Amino acid sequence: MLSVILPAYNEEKMLGKSADIISKILEDAKIEYQLIFVNDGSKDNTWNEIEKAVSNNQNIVGVNFSRNFGKESAMLAGLATATGDCCAVIDCDLQHPPEVLVEMYRLWEQGYEVIEAVKRSRGKESLMHKASAGLFYKLISKAVNFDMSRASDFKLLDRKAVDSILSLPEKNTFFRALSSWVGFKATSVEFDVQEREAGESKWSTRALIDYAITNIVSFSSAPMQFVTVAGVLTFIFGMIMGIQTLIKFLTGKAVEGFTTVILLVLIIGSLIMISLGIIGYYISKIYEEVKGRPRYIISKTIGK
Ligand code: UDP
Ligand code: MG
Repeated sequence: MLSVILPAYNEEKMLGKSADIISKILEDAKIEYQLIFVNDGSKDNTWNEIEKAVSNNQNIVGVNFSRNFGKESAMLAGLATATGDCCAVIDCDLQHPPEVLVEMYRLWEQGYEVIEAVKRSRGKESLMHKASAGLFYKLISKAVNFDMSRASDFKLLDRKAVDSILSLPEKNTFFRALSSWVGFKATSVEFDVQEREAGESKWSTRALIDYAITNIVSFSSAPMQFVTVAGVLTFIFGMIMGIQTLIKFLTGKAVEGFTTVILLVLIIGSLIMISLGIIGYYISKIYEEVKGRPRYIISKTIGK
């Protein structure tokens, strides 16, 4: 059986439609399936829509979060609820074309264990968004040793891969990269990102920046190395200035150089503050992990 996980946050307009379309496609392809809608604390009628879908179709399961925990948590809750031999994650706004699910399922039948859907094109995005996404993916790709620039959360995973992701103890997960991190026999299919028909994207610029920083921190310690590199560079610079100052002192020209002092204080001061900030960020993430709070809280599950 194929379990399809659909995280939903304020998707009342799209929910019924995507439930119908996806179940129709899977029924036509004669694939035994289960749809798991995870309501990520929506403020609109998404949960009512899920209840309606569950009563119309016995292959649908609904999971209701006690509040908004974010898409990462919603995907993990879906994976934990799923009982299928393989699990697919797909957006419930139909921006990920559901026909691709069938193609992915066929690849799974051929023995692939991780099937990633990669974006052929990135859809409509502003220039600013493109540039920052570019930088983010460069960093992440380097950290996971795998080209992530076209990656999406749209994937199909074998039970083995799902179980290994679920067994990870960390709280700050980055599903998109974890699926390649776990290994297994992997392949990919291409898809075109569709336009959103109704509702709106949940990603504000701030949310995107937060998402990027959290994921970089959870996957890479490269920013910490910046602290060391900056320290070494400042040390070398300091040695040169030190020698210059000594020579000036010995030759009796020592009073000049007030500008240098101010510049040094400012530059070194800001470097130290940036470095403390970076280290602080990692410490705050360690703090979050150490607290060991659950990734999400479920208030209700419906459907069989
Ligand atoms: N989503 C979620 N929790 C959130 C934000 C988004 O479950 O806090 C879901 C949303 O309902 C959708 C998917 O994640 O199914 C992708 O969200 P969106 O379409 O807003 O992102 P975009 O397609 O613009 O990247
Ligand atoms: Mg979307």
